Amino acid sequence: MLDKSVSDVDKAREKWTVLPPLELRGVGTPLVESLQSFISRVLATTGMGSKRLAKGLSLKMPSKLIRMGGFSRSNGPDVLELAVDELQSLTGADNLRSGTFWALSKILTADNQSINEKCCRRWCPNCYKEWGPESYEPLAWTVDLLRTCPVHGCLLNNACWSCERPQRPYLDASRRSSCTNCGADLSRSVRWVELHPFLRSVERQVLDLIEFCAESRTEPVPYDVLREFIQGLRRSAGSRRGDILAKQIKQFASCAKLRRRRVSLRSLINLCAIQGVSVSEFLAAPRATSSPLLFDRWGGLTYMPLPTARQAQKIYVASQCMKAYLRERPAYLPPISVFLSRFNVQLLAVRDVAEETYDFYLAAHSVHGDAATQRALRAAYLSATSILAARTQGEPLDAEVVAAMVMRRTEVGLSIARHAVKSAALVRATQAEEVISCYEREMTLDEALDWFVENRQCSRNADGVPPRTRNDAPHRRS
Ligand SMILES: [Zn+2]
Ligand SMILES: [Zn+2]
Repeated sequence: MLDKSVSDVDKAREKWTVLPPLELRGVGTPLVESLQSFISRVLATTGMGSKRLAKGLSLKMPSKLIRMGGFSRSNGPDVLELAVDELQSLTGADNLRSGTFWALSKILTADNQSINEKCCRRWCPNCYKEWGPESYEPLAWTVDLLRTCPVHGCLLNNACWSCERPQRPYLDASRRSSCTNCGADLSRSVRWVELHPFLRSVERQVLDLIEFCAESRTEPVPYDVLREFIQGLRRSAGSRRGDILAKQIKQFASCAKLRRRRVSLRSLINLCAIQGVSVSEFLAAPRATSSPLLFDRWGGLTYMPLPTARQAQKIYVASQCMKAYLRERPAYLPPISVFLSRFNVQLLAVRDVAEETYDFYLAAHSVHGDAATQRALRAAYLSATSILAARTQGEPLDAEVVAAMVMRRTEVGLSIARHAVKSAALVRATQAEEVISCYEREMTLDEALDWFVENRQCSRNADGVPPRTRNDAPHRRS
């Protein structure tokens, strides 16, 4: 009798937890709660300060609490992971990893996820407006590729509507919906956007991926799943010599083989898009989905279909600079790869958004004469550019003086030297810092990706990534 009652007490004691037994919400769904949100609820429920909780979890600083979801940031023995174990035993929740990208931590980097304290928070103003006792912040909000609220469809915000300041990740749940800088109500300023079908498909992929992470599991997906997939793509890419996309895949494959390098969420979505499969299809069957049998899905795709917002902005700036330069009717046009080199963008992407201008440039460049003249002009142009670049301070050099210097250095005739100097000066003027920042203000990072996807030729009739039909890739000509 006595024995039985002791064992009942023991059983009850097993269920007792030091902290209130909270549960991670939305487990197994794309709307799973983020670990950060769970921690902020623990703090709110217990009234405990973040310092005390951090100490209890053997973390040196309270700010580490915010980074606890970020498994994929660290290599080697991980204090943050031990802290999750500790938090699980304190609260009795055994699935806190479902509120993080732990399931994919061996294959994904933390890029595209804002899980460190420097990154700003993202939120849905409508969700904040309807906030109630059951509310929580979903993991999905931390992924910058997800632009809209999965519940309301409005844009997720990442800065205060009033003072425009980004918001730090917070742990104090009660002050969630007030700006940390000016105190404005963050549930105001609801913005809507009509997403391009391709970007909508990206959002679906992100949510699928989160649903995958949100299931309870015992082990993260092993790295070999990614390696096998990329090597399958690499085998298929072998037949596409000289192609930019094939080169990019080759690079991915060698990084995977030699350094077991993880990829960003964006790259994973790109790699799957190239292969014409969804991220969840890939995760379910990595070997089968990388098979060359699917290869005709590549179609005419020539570069990674989903750029970063920054890349998209650069593509915009490059195309605007090219238009402005052509409006000045330069006598000599350097090769387009040289002209666009400072932007570090895919030439084909620039062509996709400004085809007419791009092709006009190529045509204007090609009339400069035979191969020998082109070589002389190019050498003179590069020489003039470097002379002008070296002269950033002090009196600007007289064009005639520069032309004479170019003549001496490159042994070209005077008329070629003059053309080259004029052209180099014009390129400098049309690509000046202040001109570029003006274009950047015109196309903010917020809008750039939409603009790119909306305007590029290859995605015009697309749901997902359709093939291009042009075989004549301009980068081979320039
Ligand atoms: Zn919402
Ligand atoms: Zn504010």
